[in-house]
Amino acid sequence: MKNFAMISLLLLWGTSCSYEGKELQMDNWTDALSGKKTELKGGKLLVSEGQKYLYDGKGSEEGFSNFEWKASVLTTPDAYATVAFHTDQEGKGYEVVLHNGAIDGTKKTGSLDAVRNLYRSLAEDGDIVSISRKSTGSSEKGLSVERNDIVTQGKWFPVQISVKGKNITVTVNGVEVVNYTEPENPYRTDNYRNRLLSSGTFAVTAQKGTVVLDSITVVPLAAETVNPEASTPIEEQNDAIIKLQQQNFPVIDYHVHLKGNLTKEMAHAMSMNYGINYGVAPNAGEGGVGRMLSNDKEVYEYFDEVKNLPFLCGVQGEGRKWTRDFSQKALGIFDYLFTDAMTIIDHKGRNSRIYRAEEVHYDGITKEQYMDHLVDQTVKILTNEPADIFANPTYVPDDMNSDYDKYWTDKRVDRVLDVLQKYNIALEINARYRIPSLDIIRKAKERGIKFTFGTNNVDADFGRLEYCVEAIEKCGLTPEDIWFPSMSVRSQRPVVLYNKFE
Ligand SMILES: [Zn+2]
Repeated sequence: MKNFAMISLLLLWGTSCSYEGKELQMDNWTDALSGKKTELKGGKLLVSEGQKYLYDGKGSEEGFSNFEWKASVLTTPDAYATVAFHTDQEGKGYEVVLHNGAIDGTKKTGSLDAVRNLYRSLAEDGDIVSISRKSTGSSEKGLSVERNDIVTQGKWFPVQISVKGKNITVTVNGVEVVNYTEPENPYRTDNYRNRLLSSGTFAVTAQKGTVVLDSITVVPLAAETVNPEASTPIEEQNDAIIKLQQQNFPVIDYHVHLKGNLTKEMAHAMSMNYGINYGVAPNAGEGGVGRMLSNDKEVYEYFDEVKNLPFLCGVQGEGRKWTRDFSQKALGIFDYLFTDAMTIIDHKGRNSRIYRAEEVHYDGITKEQYMDHLVDQTVKILTNEPADIFANPTYVPDDMNSDYDKYWTDKRVDRVLDVLQKYNIALEINARYRIPSLDIIRKAKERGIKFTFGTNNVDADFGRLEYCVEAIEKCGLTPEDIWFPSMSVRSQRPVVLYNKFE
């Protein structure tokens, strides 16, 4: 006990921050453009389009290094704002995004801008009903001080930002959405060269619409504070994902299954560590592996389980009976829906999972004829089963795969691309099977077909979209080539039951 007290005393002596461990109300802000000061005195901070407020209250002179920052936030419809930390007048430091709404490829609430961009928000916009400004006197420097009385409607959402050593966490609505540990040699493009940890103050900027912050507090923390839950730093100089993040190229793996040993918690940690947004999908239908949903009731129950998790919420139509067994309304609650042609009705009417050698029968026909049948089936599936994404595309049975290019003739490729184009279906670039070929991806891009990236993992041991990164580089894909759930047209397409099942 005595030793502990001695050490604490020495540590206190060694630190420069006199507010360490104390919760500070962040009441004093300055409009960076006009120089006008605001003292909140328990009121709310209102920042409108084009405005930037810098914190200049208690603790700002010495600067904040390690801290826990908190606020309750309300955004007007489609507002876009940022909270900067370790910042100054010139704008160094990191920014956290405040922006809700549809999954449309724009950065969403909680994103650690250009380092860990997120594409699904766990928060919703509210709105402002009325604002009245009251003068509350003068600041020490003789400038007038105003306080906003704001009446709002809709949900406020809590946001927390912490820096502990090299680790940054962001929490939205109580869910950790960023856990980033800055490595020794961070990769930064010229645009973002100042996005680094140091020390500084806070700033709130509204690029679009209005953002209101209430109950803004910060607790400065001791220099030696660490986060025991900090993610392992990634060596960024050789990491393809941070390079995409720095270009604001959306990094989303839409095809993650909680299969094998992969739990929700592990997927969450991996996603934050690698900087890849995960779209987690169960299988709706029959014949698959892992979490399966078998009717509408199970769909709604599953959705309630996952909707507040920091994943995009997808679903995979599995087997060929899913369009019969589920309502479009139930499956419509998911952000996106995909299916594949790995289960077909073969040339003798048998249900065949072509990824299982024992279910692939060439009896009576050549492999060329088998291939024609597979393409026929693919076209039927994509025409009659309203999916957003064609997953595991152009997959052929194992014993045909060594001749993949021979079987995927231009004519067959065109038949599949025609139907994707006709129904606005996205083409998955599958990281696990490395399909479709780069040639097919180039052809699809030429036609304006959009892409998603997906793994289709079997357990927790899977990659980081390596083949998708290769396709971006070799086929010249840009963010304009990428599909987002806001482009979904599946709800407008009719379900056609074209197979006869007993
Ligand atoms: Zn799958």
